[in-house]
Amino acid sequence: PFELKGKSVYVAGHRGMVGAALLRRLVQEDVRLVTLERSEVDLRNQIAVFDWFAKTRPQVVFLAAAKVGGIVANNTLRADFIYDNIAIASNVIHAAHLNGAEKLMFLGSSCIYPKFAAQPLREDSMLTGPLESTNEPYAISKIAGIKMAEAYRSQYGSNFISVMPTNLYGPGDNYHPEYSHVVAALIRRFHEAKLTGATSVSVWGTGSPRREFLYVDDMADACVHLMKTYSGPELVNIGTGEDITIAEFARVVAVTVGYRGEMTFDHSRPDGTPRKLLDVSRLARLGWRARTLLEDGIKLAYEAYLSGR
Ligand code: GDP
Repeated sequence: PFELKGKSVYVAGHRGMVGAALLRRLVQEDVRLVTLERSEVDLRNQIAVFDWFAKTRPQVVFLAAAKVGGIVANNTLRADFIYDNIAIASNVIHAAHLNGAEKLMFLGSSCIYPKFAAQPLREDSMLTGPLESTNEPYAISKIAGIKMAEAYRSQYGSNFISVMPTNLYGPGDNYHPEYSHVVAALIRRFHEAKLTGATSVSVWGTGSPRREFLYVDDMADACVHLMKTYSGPELVNIGTGEDITIAEFARVVAVTVGYRGEMTFDHSRPDGTPRKLLDVSRLARLGWRARTLLEDGIKLAYEAYLSGR
């Protein structure tokens, strides 16, 4: 096991949904938390990152900083997604190496797996086939980060590990009407429809893609568990092991929000990859499983949305 106790722990991306959840979880540990505001250091700026690391020398790094978004954001801001994320991964991983970080966790994404890989998605299916085109730039940047962690491990013996979360949701999500992920988008759309008394809400795509959803505080708990207990070269998927169609999922959100009108499916919007369910057997063997049921997690996310969190 890796001892976190008493260490300085840098959470990169603490203003994001995942980084904020990591901070909530890490206050339960006896660690010295280190964070950095974007106004102080832009993680895309190599010199600024190297200077800050040389000065601060965190012992443990959670690399949860990234430019993220839903299917339209990924497909539209293609250059931003590949540039920002490669720059962040490259700068932070190399700076951690230069400054003697004892351990680093790189957060990837389930979209690194090939579009038509066998389901549930096993960690060893990475780079066995073409990617889903809507999020290829993002996926390539995440694969670059994974391969960096792997290369520093093999060349320098660095204890750098990579985890692959499934679709995440919860407090701190981004509710942008066009660029958000499906959970935030539907919470907002059903809620606004309820308020205005609208009788029809549009859901993107056909409703038939299947997705797996993990509550972000479960994700943070899994990350801390793996940081303490796992030091291997293999990727580790983080998910619930269960998926649901977008149509079924939309009904869960409608019920939670209390919207009673109709739902229509907008076929002019992209479906993205047909199915994205992670094989979580490695994670289970490592002693962790998700605790928050989807219905409960969506309730918590809706409450957070209502209170502006
Ligand atoms: P993905 O898992 O990378 O495709 O990310 P998203 O969370 O953006 O989309 C998941 C699925 O939900 C896709 O099949 C979308 O077409 C579908 N979806 C349905 N309604 C919406 C919506 O309002 N916003 C988004 N982002 N996706 C939606």
